[in-house]
Amino acid sequence: MNGFDYALPTSTDDAIAMLRERKAPHCIAGGTNLVDLMKERVALPAALIDINHLPLANIVLGSDNVLRLGALVRNSDTAEHPLIRERYPLLRAAILAGASPQIRNMATTGGNLLQRTRCVYFYDTGVPCNKRERGSGCPAIQGLAQQHAILGASEQCIATHPSDMCVALAALDAVVHVEGPNGHRAIPFGDFHRLPGDRPDLDTTLRSDELVTEIELGSAARFAAHSCYFKLRERSSYAFALVSVAAALDLAEDGSIRAARIALGGVAAKPWRNMQVEAALIGRSATAAVFSGAAAMMLADARPAGDETRPEGASNAFKIPMARRAIVRALELATAGITSNTGEDAARARGERE
Ligand code: SF4
Repeated sequence: MNGFDYALPTSTDDAIAMLRERKAPHCIAGGTNLVDLMKERVALPAALIDINHLPLANIVLGSDNVLRLGALVRNSDTAEHPLIRERYPLLRAAILAGASPQIRNMATTGGNLLQRTRCVYFYDTGVPCNKRERGSGCPAIQGLAQQHAILGASEQCIATHPSDMCVALAALDAVVHVEGPNGHRAIPFGDFHRLPGDRPDLDTTLRSDELVTEIELGSAARFAAHSCYFKLRERSSYAFALVSVAAALDLAEDGSIRAARIALGGVAAKPWRNMQVEAALIGRSATAAVFSGAAAMMLADARPAGDETRPEGASNAFKIPMARRAIVRALELATAGITSNTGEDAARARGERE
């Protein structure tokens, strides 16, 4: 780990001024990703700006019925908050499907959005990586790519975004609020994370002198009864998603679909949504055949990373049929009112299969 200055801002304005004035600054909150990156010398901040004491740790329901989730709310506090349990069970399920209780006790909302890919080559400074060092190369494309993208990848980077929470936030049409020297910006969640293109070093549209302050969640009451976070991973806990699906349905009394939300995790550099698929579900029956059609449409552009004919285990071609089945299953469980295939709902989810 390299040496760094440590700064303790007393206000959001103070923190923004430090981001602008300090050399190679980096904000730290829970530190659950950043400290690892620093230990591996992937991140080399010259100044750490400790934002833990800023007043951004509240969950507030406004008179406009909009819920505002502060950037410094710990993930475990978000998951257990009564309003999140009642109105956003999809978000609760996604948070509880991720990491470990100890990490969720430290990790924050803002940090969850800004965590970096878990591509193994990104963390290995002994090999090239376009995300770590522009133009150096991407060994993952012909290397071990099981965890990598099947949608939205580029010739320069095939990494995926590791968050579970962000997949639910994408499905729930969240808005990211940021403050910077030029004032406030409200960024629709789908515009916050970037696809790699020719700038894989840039994960988000957040500017280097801006600070995430809160996440806005509009009314999602229509989806609360029929939502599911479905996560598939290599082991049953403390693992990143191979594929995950945040699915939410608003069902009419006759069982037809009034509205749908579907976001995928583990398949792209950002939570993956396709509004055309969601629109195509409106008015259709909530059946496996309809869901299967939606899954095929959602994955029409999916491609395995690198060469599909490589030795078994190197390619991520398996993710395409896995994602197709996961979408169908997530929508089936959402229809049945089962919120997750992990944690406290795991047994109910398995029971549906039997
Ligand atoms: Fe780096 Fe992206 Fe390639 Fe991984 S996939 S080695 S993060 S450029």
